[in-house]
Amino acid sequence: MRHVVIGGGIAGTTAAEELRKLDADAEITLVGEDHEIIYSRVLLPHYAKGLVPREKLFLKKETWYAEKNIEWMPGTRCDAIDVTNRHVALSNGRELPYDKLLLATGGEARTLPYEGENVCYFHSLGDTEHLISLMRSRAGGRGIVYGGSFIACELLDVFLYHHMPTVAAFRGPWMFHRILDADSGELVSDHLRAVGADVRPGSETLESVGATDADVVGVGVGVEPDLAWIRDAGIAVNKGVVTSARLETSAGDVYAAGDVTEFEDLVVGRTLMAGNWPSAVMQGRVAARNMAGKPEEFRNVSAYATNLAGLDIIGVGDTDRAFADEIRIVGSRAAGGVTQLFVRAGKVVGATMVGRTGDRTQVTNAIRDGLAPETLSLR
Ligand SMILES: Cc1cc2nc3c(=O)[nH]c(=O)nc-3n(C[C@H](O)[C@H](O)[C@H](O)COP(=O)(O)OP(=O)(O)OC[C@H]3O[C@@H](n4cnc5c(N)ncnc54)[C@H](O)[C@@H]3O)c2cc1C
Repeated sequence: MRHVVIGGGIAGTTAAEELRKLDADAEITLVGEDHEIIYSRVLLPHYAKGLVPREKLFLKKETWYAEKNIEWMPGTRCDAIDVTNRHVALSNGRELPYDKLLLATGGEARTLPYEGENVCYFHSLGDTEHLISLMRSRAGGRGIVYGGSFIACELLDVFLYHHMPTVAAFRGPWMFHRILDADSGELVSDHLRAVGADVRPGSETLESVGATDADVVGVGVGVEPDLAWIRDAGIAVNKGVVTSARLETSAGDVYAAGDVTEFEDLVVGRTLMAGNWPSAVMQGRVAARNMAGKPEEFRNVSAYATNLAGLDIIGVGDTDRAFADEIRIVGSRAAGGVTQLFVRAGKVVGATMVGRTGDRTQVTNAIRDGLAPETLSLR
């Protein structure tokens, strides 16, 4: 059996590892555009703060791939898939045949049409090293973080940790304005002001907040998968690669896992993209089992949690306001904590918690078990 895994991030690496556990004799090839061995993106903010040394970011030793008899092809991009003849075309000119193929290509930081030496994104190890070098060379300077996403939060947390006077600029009335209500969103803005940030809602462009005069400009405006070459292969894509709960794509023997995947989420009852580390790990494992002929459905309550300079912000399950029949609010801006419960067909399907971490377990269990909001006892 020839397994080919495209993408050497956590979803792809976990899948390759699981495939080896399930089949000692299979040929396994892991193709990754990155040159580095697998590292933790979750630790990048800690590295940027100087709390974790560089070597601790790496999750495997360079010898691991050979020890597991996994052919690792770093610095190699997959450019095309021929689903009829079952092979992929690589940037090094090689054509690789497969029996089972996994797409685990994650996403890329969305960029803005602003080019300056002072700008940095926050997706890869390279981005983080650029950020660290700017922070060092321009220490004592002024910063701007642009965007209302989780990555913008991570950037703000790093800038504020380094005591850099920082403008927090975003287009909406508050951060995460697509998922947070006004009370939750203003709570985030209140907190940012309390820790010294200059909050600028309604900022349409980077230039409008003086990016050219700033010393360091961090941009966190979302993550987007590169789907063009996958679409060209005739594989169904929407916002991500569309899969079943078994992570099968529309093409036979082609699977997807991790951030690139728009999967049938059995917990919330519609297709979702997870965008978090634990889901990528679990999907890598589930995809591998299906590739190895051991059918399994992916089932998990997706969650992303961050701490913005002391304020916990958590999203669990389906947090798209457009898909909720009703949104119930617990807590208030005045009380310093707000939880939103997203209800569909009488069941809790998602939640956001700002400053109310204590609700997380109850809410997660309610989503997992498909419970009505009345069954929760949140105070
Ligand atoms: C700064 C930061 C902090 C984060 N913090 C958290 C956190 O606290 N908690 C949490 O749950 N999640 C966090 N995340 C999100 C989490 O890291 C991702 O959900 C996870 O890494 C997704 O893994 P993946 O393997 O699906 O994708 P990726 O990690 O994006 O890996 C995909 C790999 O595929 C490669 N690739 C892409 N296209 C091709 C191609 N055509 N050919 C070959 N290779 C290709 C890429 O180079 C990349 O190495 C954070 C992310 C960032 C950037």
